[in-house]
Amino acid sequence: MNAPFGPALEQQAQVAIIGAGFSGLGMGRALMKSGRADFLILERARCVGGTWRDNTYPGCACDVPSRLYSFSFAQNPDWSRTYSPQSEILTYLESCVDRFGLREKLRLGTEVLSATFDESAALWRIETNRGPLAARALIVGTGPLNKPLVPRIKGLETFAGHAFHSCEWDHRHDLTGKRVAVIGTGASAIQFVPEIAPKVARLHLFQRTAPWILPRIERAFTPAQKKLFRDLPFLQQALRDLTYWRMEMLAIGFTLRPRMLAKIEEHAKELIERSIADPALRAKVTPTFQVGCKRILFSNSYYRTLTRANVELVTLPIAEVRADTVRLTDGSSREVDTIIYGTGFRATDMLGAVEIRGREGRSLNAEWAKTARAYYGITVSGYPNLFFLAGPNTGLGHNSLIYMIEAQVHYILEALAALERRQAGYLDVKPEAQSAFNSGLDRRMKSTVWATGCRSWYLTEDGHNTTLWPSFTFRYKERTRRLKSADYEFVRAPARVRTS
Ligand SMILES: Cc1cc2nc3c(=O)[nH]c(=O)nc-3n(C[C@H](O)[C@H](O)[C@H](O)COP(=O)(O)OP(=O)(O)OC[C@H]3O[C@@H](n4cnc5c(N)ncnc54)[C@H](O)[C@@H]3O)c2cc1C
Repeated sequence: MNAPFGPALEQQAQVAIIGAGFSGLGMGRALMKSGRADFLILERARCVGGTWRDNTYPGCACDVPSRLYSFSFAQNPDWSRTYSPQSEILTYLESCVDRFGLREKLRLGTEVLSATFDESAALWRIETNRGPLAARALIVGTGPLNKPLVPRIKGLETFAGHAFHSCEWDHRHDLTGKRVAVIGTGASAIQFVPEIAPKVARLHLFQRTAPWILPRIERAFTPAQKKLFRDLPFLQQALRDLTYWRMEMLAIGFTLRPRMLAKIEEHAKELIERSIADPALRAKVTPTFQVGCKRILFSNSYYRTLTRANVELVTLPIAEVRADTVRLTDGSSREVDTIIYGTGFRATDMLGAVEIRGREGRSLNAEWAKTARAYYGITVSGYPNLFFLAGPNTGLGHNSLIYMIEAQVHYILEALAALERRQAGYLDVKPEAQSAFNSGLDRRMKSTVWATGCRSWYLTEDGHNTTLWPSFTFRYKERTRRLKSADYEFVRAPARVRTS
């Protein structure tokens, strides 16, 4: 939809936003609405959409109902079904560009390589593939789930067939009649496996851990229902609220009383029994960890697909890949033409390739190499006027991430307003405020379902949960409603002024 590149990159803007997904577009709209129109959205791809531009695999859809998985201020009466497919969500995001008046703010094909805080000028010096840019504030909306994780398997580089990751689906590669290995049984794989199984010759699905799967309760909306949503916006809002509270209730089990989730476990086991007759296969797909510890998945067709004659669920570990075979640890092997990685993302790697340097040359990449820590996932001590959207510990296992992003957008506006009021050059969260916040987070995390012993993508290698918010989302919104100025140092560049 978008022209390959926007106008030439300016040298300066008050605010630079990295990323044009839900985060970047939501932030842009808020800046526009608050009258702060001197900003740019830098996006490395040639069109907007983030997650929903990149993930085009067959069957890709959201798993939070679209009525809720959309901006609260741009609800869409035209969703075709409860859980919209990727193409509809992408169209929705594309439509937001003009709806929010952001077209002239977009700088597509602009990849941010590094950003360094220049303390004397109170500016972020940003390097991009299209030249430098200086900005008073830098907002990082680069997304939690877009750095593909490719498994480290011996011999993978010697594979002579075709291999690709689910978020880089190769639509030119026809799978018809092919022998296909799918590695991984996470959220993406359970969506695309039922779609490709009928057309491939053989599908070998390599599972490390069986996920908990619940039925997906969904329906298509009729034209009459869509008209009703359009004519009666309060009805749409009421459904959105109902969906929110229904999902939010799960936070009780997830973050306070994991044992309350036992009912969900029963429900999931019933789905296995209804879908699969073979006791051996049932045993293979029955998870051995507490439900909720890893993301709960939703599908009505996944288990039935596993019962197809051309589908094999392999639970033995892969020993190595050779030119045209995947060899298992028991010495057996499967001949394959194509390997698809359904192995998800490096969710705990918050910065990816962007190099960020703060005060006194501090490197955020080095500081976050093991464990990413921030204040409400938004600001980081030592990195003034730097704000994250969907940052550390603000992901969710039970509700819509857009709710969190909207709360963060509001908080960032509060911060910009505070800077303006105080005529300060920059603000920096105090280290003691950040560490008190994180101590509280760690304490809360201990009683959550994510700390019940499973190994998930929510955790860093050394077992820290740096991805999820361990409480109710309305609590997060409440606490980020106002900027607590005592938690910040406001600096009138170049001289320093403490506020307390
Ligand atoms: C298949 C899938 C399904 C999902 N379903 C749900 C769901 O149902 N509910 C839910 O709450 N969440 C879901 N998520 C999580 C989803 O990622 C978020 O909900 C949301 O889309 C994140 O938006 P974002 O703008 O923060 O990040 P993204 O959508 O990832 O956008 C980030 C953007 O930043 C750009 N970028 C990155 N680095 C740079 C750089 N250096 N320079 C310039 N640009 C850069 C990227 O190109 C991208 O466009 C899903 C994720 C996936 C992968």
